[in-house]
Amino acid sequence: MFFKQVVGLEEIKSKLRSMVQKGRLSHAMLLTGAEGNGGLPLALAFAQYLVCDKVTHKTIAPDLLFPAASADEEKLPIESCGVCASCVKAAQLIHPDIHYVYPVFARKSGDKPLSADFIVEWREFISQSPYGNLYDWLQYIQAENKQGNISAYECNEINRKLSLKSFEGGYKIQIIWMPEFLGNEGNKLLKLIEEPSPDTLFLLITENESKILPTILSRLQIIKIPRPDLHDIEQALKLHGQFSADQARKIAAVSQQNYRDALRLLQETPEDWPGLLRDWLNGILKSGPVAQVKWIEDISKLGRERQKQFLQYFSHLLEQAIRLRMGAEPLAGLPDSEQDFALRLNRVADLSSQQAIVDEINKAIYYIERNAHTKMLFHALTIRFYHILHNHEVAVVT
Ligand SMILES: [Zn+2]
Repeated sequence: MFFKQVVGLEEIKSKLRSMVQKGRLSHAMLLTGAEGNGGLPLALAFAQYLVCDKVTHKTIAPDLLFPAASADEEKLPIESCGVCASCVKAAQLIHPDIHYVYPVFARKSGDKPLSADFIVEWREFISQSPYGNLYDWLQYIQAENKQGNISAYECNEINRKLSLKSFEGGYKIQIIWMPEFLGNEGNKLLKLIEEPSPDTLFLLITENESKILPTILSRLQIIKIPRPDLHDIEQALKLHGQFSADQARKIAAVSQQNYRDALRLLQETPEDWPGLLRDWLNGILKSGPVAQVKWIEDISKLGRERQKQFLQYFSHLLEQAIRLRMGAEPLAGLPDSEQDFALRLNRVADLSSQQAIVDEINKAIYYIERNAHTKMLFHALTIRFYHILHNHEVAVVT
């Protein structure tokens, strides 16, 4: 994987490169950030960068791999070369000095599963969905309702592997995805993380830092991975496939800066969110109960995920409306049709009504995620919005 395949995060990429350049690489790092931020792809790209022949040179002893650079020293490349033998192996996840650990489950009772037992699936999974989350992974390996786990046996295996010499003379890199699943077993790794051999590098990637053993956490250099910004997501979507700039922008807008969600949305057929929203608002403002009931029937037929996306889209438009109201420039790339819609929203609702609607939308999304009965939920929302919008009309008249 290349850095350029990781969406956004330019500041962190250059921080990592600079640590290498200055010979200040910590031996145990934790990349921490929410799902869809790209912690795992970043770790994969960084590992490839570190083993690339063009970046390092394997004939140098590991502890001299990255001596502090003098000012006139040549700068390291910003990207791994992608063509040397090390890069090729790293990209296929078969480099002998890059080890992977991730949650797995026992296929049969009494099994002592190791990550290595699932390495074929892992390679396929990463090549298809490097932004996948734990749920995607467990689905992929058909864990069904079983929980993933990183076991004591796995920790013994890590200790064993890292005690061996590096195969290719460079770094031995241990990637641990979701170290929050180590539980107390993680204590078995303490010594290794505290006093690693100079050629050992731990890259841990978590979505939930608070669940990592404090004894482990205190020994890690923590690097926070922020959400990629909307513009970066949009650009990445455009590069990703056969999608128009307009589609990429729409999907980025409802992705809540979660690139995993954005990719998932791409796989679904695009919905006519503006049309659906227009019908709803017309039903509430003009047409009356019959149209409202029909609209509620229609939206109830969409799955929860789609209903959530629709509400996110509405919330996104309201944000644009509020921006315009405040005199801010419209977001770059906002199409005229959406700008029009946002302006119309400003005519039918004042600022406090819009804020009340955004609050209601956020609550509704929260309940949809927790399995609320969505037909009743959209009924209740319709009534709430009726009162919010009609109160506003009265306020405008008086
Ligand atoms: Zn290379």
